[in-house]
Amino acid sequence: MKVTIPHMGNVYIAAKILFDSLGIDYIIPPLNNKEALLLGSKHSPEEICLPFKLMIGNYISGIKEGADTVLLVGSCGPCRFGEYSELQIKILKQLGFNVEFIVIDPVKSTGIKEFLRRMHRVGAGRKKNGHSKINALFSAYTAMNLLDVIEMKAHELAGFEKNSGECKRILSSCKKEVYSCNDPKTALNILSSYRSKINKISVNPKKNPLKVSIIGEIYTVIEPFSNLYIEDLLMSAGVSSYRNLTPSWWVKDMLLKPIRMNSWQLLEASNEFLPLYIGGHARECIGEAVLASKNHMDGAIQIFPMGCMPEIVSKSILPTLSREKNLPILSLVVDEMTGEAGYMTRVEAFLDLLERRRKNVRFGN
Ligand code: SF4
Repeated sequence: MKVTIPHMGNVYIAAKILFDSLGIDYIIPPLNNKEALLLGSKHSPEEICLPFKLMIGNYISGIKEGADTVLLVGSCGPCRFGEYSELQIKILKQLGFNVEFIVIDPVKSTGIKEFLRRMHRVGAGRKKNGHSKINALFSAYTAMNLLDVIEMKAHELAGFEKNSGECKRILSSCKKEVYSCNDPKTALNILSSYRSKINKISVNPKKNPLKVSIIGEIYTVIEPFSNLYIEDLLMSAGVSSYRNLTPSWWVKDMLLKPIRMNSWQLLEASNEFLPLYIGGHARECIGEAVLASKNHMDGAIQIFPMGCMPEIVSKSILPTLSREKNLPILSLVVDEMTGEAGYMTRVEAFLDLLERRRKNVRFGN
């Protein structure tokens, strides 16, 4: 068995640590890029959302490099994500690829027995005992968590750093270094050392940077290629950005969902505007916008793929929320046709607006 995975932010690093720990053969496809998007778009239904197309591009690259099994997480929820695996298997079969799919659906939807059976298939053929498997899962989760902490800190401190570009440099060398390491224990040590490094960078606490919250559909906010590297852009502009939805948040959310203890803060915050679950992470998006205003952010940027049903609902609620909570919100829709220049201009114009708003408040206008 040679496993491949679709990309979503830094998940490939945690997956690599998991496979290395379990001794599983794997192919990590090249990071998302224009070729993956073109390849995926060519073989996907035109109107399907962007994550689907990028994933198809990733699978084809992984399979061409020798993978025979695709591992992905699923959902039985009301949006299209629930149909992803079925449709993707069909497309790959029609293209002549005969691969296995292991879909890790939430425990709530499949039941614990089926969940464990699918998890067992991942390491089948490897003589690892239960204890080693649990250790491998724990290492992968720890890596995921550390990466999220480092990234979060870098995004926040970019607004306060004394040496321009330091946070960005540390983040980029952290990912490169940990990815090139094949020993899970050393990889975790590398991540711990980068966590200390990012916490020790020189900052100017007197700076008062713009604070922006990144909200929206989970794949497009986490996967930098799909959002045209918006967090890098904000770091370069000296803006502090904040994002709740991360890979480790998603794991915690999935695990706590069956006992209704997941993301209660976000869900509670969304109650005023969207009290019902409508699929995707629409409630979380609304909850994050409410919390952004509560936490005195200057604004929020919502990002979602063209045609994303849950986020279209959030987008229709956000203008009311923006008015009532006095929070400027910019909505950005992405697909394979998104032009970089127009996208960047909108983000820069939004940042200008936030700056001017601050000045007006200062001068009492
Ligand atoms: S949440 Fe939106 S983008 Fe994600 S699968 Fe559902 S419809 Fe597509």
